Amino acid sequence: WYRKGGYHAVRVGDQFAGGRYIAQRKLGWGQFSTVWLAYDTRTSEFVALKIQKSAAQFAEAALHEIEVLSAITNGDPSNSKCVVRLVDHFKHTGPNGQHLCMVLEFLGDSLLRLIRYNRYKGLQLNKVREICKCILIGLDYMHRELGIIHSDLKPENILLCSTIDPTKDPIRSGLTPILEKPEGNANGGVTMSTIDKKLKRRARRAVAKISERRASMGGGAAKSKRNLDGIDMRCKVVDFGNAFWANRLFTEEIQTRQYRAPEVILQAGYSFPVDMWSFACTAFELATGDMMFAPNSGQGFGEDEDHLALMMELLGKMPRKIAIGGAQSKDYFDRHGDLKRIRRLKFWPLDRLLVDKYKFSENDAREFAEFLCPLLDFAPEKRPTAQQCLQHPWLNLRNSAQDEMKNEANLGNVDVGMSNLQIKVGK
Ligand code: ATP
Ligand code: MG
Ligand code: MG
Repeated sequence: WYRKGGYHAVRVGDQFAGGRYIAQRKLGWGQFSTVWLAYDTRTSEFVALKIQKSAAQFAEAALHEIEVLSAITNGDPSNSKCVVRLVDHFKHTGPNGQHLCMVLEFLGDSLLRLIRYNRYKGLQLNKVREICKCILIGLDYMHRELGIIHSDLKPENILLCSTIDPTKDPIRSGLTPILEKPEGNANGGVTMSTIDKKLKRRARRAVAKISERRASMGGGAAKSKRNLDGIDMRCKVVDFGNAFWANRLFTEEIQTRQYRAPEVILQAGYSFPVDMWSFACTAFELATGDMMFAPNSGQGFGEDEDHLALMMELLGKMPRKIAIGGAQSKDYFDRHGDLKRIRRLKFWPLDRLLVDKYKFSENDAREFAEFLCPLLDFAPEKRPTAQQCLQHPWLNLRNSAQDEMKNEANLGNVDVGMSNLQIKVGK
């Protein structure tokens, strides 16, 4: 870990860039870096200091990330596009070598943590709508204005905009204690992290737990209910380590497993619509607390085939032409377009799933499914673009407080966690 070529060990109070930045505390870490809260003595603001591992391949990856982040920041001078800003970058030499450092605007908790705080029960639909709007603004900007594909969109890579003084009171600042294990996904968003694995297990147990949860959440839990009403759910897209320009060749295998689009699995060629697929998976997870697709390998079939089966159980049979059209198609589909090893599919369409499993009202389920289903079209070119999606009426619906309460009661949704986002502190 903290060895030659690896992470740079930081102590509170350490100085960077000739004394401009002073380390305050660790915010998180990933496969490539540790991220520290730092004080910028020049601007008197807090920033996130991402210190990359020093070995050559990490330095190269950091240079790429800096290139993408620079384009993203330069193209958005008004800071209104819901993407993280790069403030500065520099090299820092330490005992383990030379580390590229990125200075990013300081943001709050990830949506994954928000879902966890909410005990995997899903957020109110009004909150989901606000978050979706932000993500779509970010995607529309990346896709249409910059020609960049993010390729690793998921709750972990979307951070809430926290504007609280992060040093005064770490609890109230909406930041959870630093985790002991890396939270990020390994090698470029392909392998599942420990936490993703935990989440997966969690997702599988979720249905069985609903009734159990309801029973256990008597008066005590209800008392701890926190109110997120009226709190603005602004957020920003982060982690551009896997992002790339659509017109430059990148790798074949992209995206974190559960958010991976079918054309990537089948190797049928991909472009911007892969982000729209991941976006739909993310929106579903925000609203239900469960991953939309959590594939497993099983007796005689692999994770990919299970993934394709799960997709077809929710979205219907994949059109034959698409099923057999990819370089990997022969591994999973026969010439009729049926899966080779998983023969019996249990069709459970999205609107029914939302009602039956997640206890949505018929109305909410129909409206949400109408929003999501076009984004999950097996034909990537038929998926709406982020720009088109921003026009969708679902984003401007508003559930009454009464409806939201009914939804909460249905889901046993009593503890909303973070009560302290978006509180501005004067400088
Ligand atoms: P990965 O393995 O996911 O690619 P990475 O090394 O590229 O990891 P990031 O994902 O960018 O690192 O950051 C690691 C963690 O640091 C994030 O999960 C988050 O908790 C925290 N973090 C990153 N950027 C910021 C920021 N701008 N503000 C606050 N916290 C941040
Ligand atoms: Mg990350
Ligand atoms: Mg990264």
